[in-house]
Amino acid sequence: MKALQYQHVGGAPTLATVPDPEPGPGQVLLKVTAAGACHSDIAVMSMTADQLTFPLPLTLGHEGVGTVAALGDGASGVAVGESVAVYGPWGCGVCHSCAQGKENYCLRAAKEGIHPPGLGEPGAMAEYLLVDDVRHLVPLGDLDPVSTVPLTDAGLTPYHAIKISVPKLVAGTTAVVIGTGGLGHVAIQLLRAMTPSRVIALDVVEEKLELARRVGAHEALLSDTKAAERIRELTGGRGAEAVFDFVGVPPTTALAGQCAGIEADVTLVGIGGGSLPVGFGILPYETTVRSPYWGSRSELEEVLDLARQGMLDIHVEQFSLDEAPRAYQLLHDGKINGRAVVVP
Ligand code: NAD
Ligand code: ZN
Ligand code: ZN
Repeated sequence: MKALQYQHVGGAPTLATVPDPEPGPGQVLLKVTAAGACHSDIAVMSMTADQLTFPLPLTLGHEGVGTVAALGDGASGVAVGESVAVYGPWGCGVCHSCAQGKENYCLRAAKEGIHPPGLGEPGAMAEYLLVDDVRHLVPLGDLDPVSTVPLTDAGLTPYHAIKISVPKLVAGTTAVVIGTGGLGHVAIQLLRAMTPSRVIALDVVEEKLELARRVGAHEALLSDTKAAERIRELTGGRGAEAVFDFVGVPPTTALAGQCAGIEADVTLVGIGGGSLPVGFGILPYETTVRSPYWGSRSELEEVLDLARQGMLDIHVEQFSLDEAPRAYQLLHDGKINGRAVVVP
């Protein structure tokens, strides 16, 4: 089958022919109907050989949906032909975190070399995807695969991040979204669906700010040195009750701190090497700083239910598998508006 692979450190993703996978005991084979491209893939492809925690080549794609093509011995619970989404952060399935459905925080995955598809195991940017266990699958029903696939990460990750801050985001409060790309443009919609907060979006590209307004941001501002001051003005000096940074580079983590008000939640989602120190005189009193990773399986079900209720309008730029290397180039160059989705 055809697969998009990252083959050697520093190389560009390349289309390759690999053997058709066959499901072993307990495994499920999916015919991929859509796979999303995430900026984390760019981060992986920027790592040195020492930083990589798995061998190459790697078939990319940690956002995947498909139809069940075959079941391995003993696998049950889904039917051939059923449309399913893949819960990507695979864990051991038995530790304390996994027992709660939080396989994203599996206590044994690192030690046991358990990796998500597309981030260690062969991913969804291929004609077929092997899924280790039926528990990693969530039924899609009638949801459209192409517009739904980003929800497995670009939806689930902000959903988990925002859900924690929902009790603070009552009427009259402000939430700031920094970086309105794949994750950020879904975050704006989740904030609108889950809270009565005013949403202020920041980005460095005008087309992305336009998309932010279209999907529900009350204000969309350039992310520059004046942004924090503008947010103070808009909040009557109070600052924001919650700030979500979907870029995570040093200038945006600093900006996230500058936007925060007393008792604010600052959530660093972007993986760009930035950090935010906490301490007296550095951040407003009682600011909480978090760095969450992905989300739980039940939260993926909740995000899919929001989509079923028509509350999410995911902006997708569609590519074939042959065009996938170009999709990654555009993502790298900041030229994808919304999410790039590959349809094999
Ligand atoms: P993306 O490329 O689709 O979006 C990034 C957006 O940030 C773009 O719109 C870009 O214009 C904007 N941007 C760049 N510099 C900026 C700045 N200085 N100020 C404001 N906006 C700026 O990327 P994505 O796929 O949405 O991923 C976003 C980040 O989240 C990446 O770092 C990715 O690795 C990370 N991520 C983290 C998790 C997690 O579990 N923590 C999960 C998925 C992705
Ligand atoms: Zn991702
Ligand atoms: Zn575990």
